Amino acid sequence: MKEQSRLIRNQAPRSHNREHSVPLYLTSSFIFDDAEQGRAIFADEEDGNIYSRYSNPNTTEFIDKVCNLEGAEAGLAFSSGMAGIFASLAGLLRSGDHIIACRSVFGSTHQLLNQLFPRWGITYTYVDASQPETWEAAILPETKMIFLETPSNPGLELIDLEWLGGFKKKYPHIILNVDNCFATPYLQKPLQYGIDLVVHSATKYMDGQGRVLGGIVCGKAELIKELMFFIRHTGPAMSAFNAWLLSKSLETLTLRMDRHCSNALKLAEMLEEHPDVEVVRYPHLPSHPQYDLAKKQMKQGGGIVTFNVKGGFDRAKSFLDELKMILFTSNLGDSRSIATHPASTTHSKLNDAERLAIGIAPGSIRISVGLEDAEDILEDVRQALDNSK
Ligand SMILES: *Cc1c(COP(=O)(O)O)cnc(C)c1O
Repeated sequence: MKEQSRLIRNQAPRSHNREHSVPLYLTSSFIFDDAEQGRAIFADEEDGNIYSRYSNPNTTEFIDKVCNLEGAEAGLAFSSGMAGIFASLAGLLRSGDHIIACRSVFGSTHQLLNQLFPRWGITYTYVDASQPETWEAAILPETKMIFLETPSNPGLELIDLEWLGGFKKKYPHIILNVDNCFATPYLQKPLQYGIDLVVHSATKYMDGQGRVLGGIVCGKAELIKELMFFIRHTGPAMSAFNAWLLSKSLETLTLRMDRHCSNALKLAEMLEEHPDVEVVRYPHLPSHPQYDLAKKQMKQGGGIVTFNVKGGFDRAKSFLDELKMILFTSNLGDSRSIATHPASTTHSKLNDAERLAIGIAPGSIRISVGLEDAEDILEDVRQALDNSK
């Protein structure tokens, strides 16, 4: 079956009730037919569920669908994107190890690297996505992982995944770990370039409707096996309910992404023509400095558009207040369009220079473009630009 059909048809085994839609398996544990089966499943000689902290039919179905999309050998589901990101580092690294990460990683990932991991003797170096020539110099003998996001949030800078995959040939012991949340595996498949692990916040486009939290890590089977040990005994498991809901959502992921992307492109084109807008960033806009790379590694440009309003900080805040339909909330990848002002919220703890290094100006606005009629989205943004000061 083709990729899209497998998203619909990959399904937990049908029960004796002959259900069409997959039931929700709300059970903490699973019974064994006899003592011998219990022994064999515990000994990993036979596949089977034991306890929902380890696996559950709903989480297995969700993982199968994401692995199918990413082209991954194996995966694990988590209670949130951050639980997955934390496990993908803590489960594979030890004291004395070093991580290279791009400066523009997600805010909580940034806190993990600079506040929490140093407590356990794991150090990091930040590199700039826009200066790939500096990355190799950052590699130390104890470097064990390179962690990055592409496109970045909210600057929408890209990293060339094929170029990154080249590191694997030169430094085979370094684990390449990519947060693929913004692009989704429908638009971009890092594993095909030789990347080892992909992490996602399923909270975003995978749910797509702003309802539940979830995370997933997938990639090389040997690494996932090592992580399995970590999660079995630390317990960041995804709930069966969230897995059931997220698996249903994946059935429509590609349809939703097509609409997110076409609406986002229309908004980006409108903004580029607007006299009160200074810079518009959207990967599939010809004015994006990495347009050719975006065309090569992303099937479409994604659902996020970032732009700078003339008038800076105060104008950007006024713009948010003038929006009528689009709401201001800290999420993205929802069916409803969302606007945020990074300089006064998610990135307010950084100074101006640090913000500029990751593409955030005082007047930067990030819009997560939803599934409403494009005309209504454009109209709301246009009237807020006209009425803000
Ligand atoms: C939201 C997000 C996360 C964190 O995911 P949660 O599900 O909120 O824990 C990590 N990376 C990126 C790029 C995100 O957008």
